[in-house]
Amino acid sequence: MAAGNRSGLITEAGGEEEAPSESLTEASEGAFLLVAQDEEDFFMYQTLLAEASFFLFLLQCDGEVAEEARQRGCLACGGVLHRADYERRPRGEPRGLGAGFARRYSFCCGAEGCRKRNTPPSLRFLGRRVYLGAVVVLVSAMREGPTPTRLDRLQELIGVCPRTVRRWRQWWQATFPRTAVWVATRGLLSRQVEETRLPGSLLDRLLGTVRERVVALLRLISPLTSRPLPADRNI
Ligand SMILES: [Zn+2]
Repeated sequence: MAAGNRSGLITEAGGEEEAPSESLTEASEGAFLLVAQDEEDFFMYQTLLAEASFFLFLLQCDGEVAEEARQRGCLACGGVLHRADYERRPRGEPRGLGAGFARRYSFCCGAEGCRKRNTPPSLRFLGRRVYLGAVVVLVSAMREGPTPTRLDRLQELIGVCPRTVRRWRQWWQATFPRTAVWVATRGLLSRQVEETRLPGSLLDRLLGTVRERVVALLRLISPLTSRPLPADRNI
């Protein structure tokens, strides 16, 4: 309980238990940490993007989400769902993930007269974007402190060009805040998240290791991945 409160105070900043002297110490340490953290985040995000185990974990999550969808049945009529995956050609993942990684889990309803396609949410694929969701999240978050060196490194690591990154950031800051997913999420947060700094500001707000926070964010936005978005077209 005490530990929970303590971390709650740090996250929510300005807790009433703070003594004035503690506040001063925390403020100066905080300023230092912010500068250091920007650099640290960049390297942690970069490391995560190269981790096969991270992407395989997302594949496993997608498998679980798909199994839940299968058990639930057709969203339109409740009919039995049959597997009807389709192949994607994603970009941005590390090598050696295996052929199964590119398979987008999907189902078709078996009921006569319905036959609707049911595509469950995904933590790997973000709508119709060619780049994987984790790449779109992490690279967009990195671009908060862009330097030519960083952009070069990103291009080398995942082959993404600065123009694409700019489009992603426009989506995060202009389109994403208008989605029902974000409106609902924002309502659950105790403090406002700076929308001009999305998705980095949301990643900062979540708890856990970088990997856990990215997974949480991908899970949070995953409802966006199972239905077409008008603004998806240009991304
Ligand atoms: Zn159906």
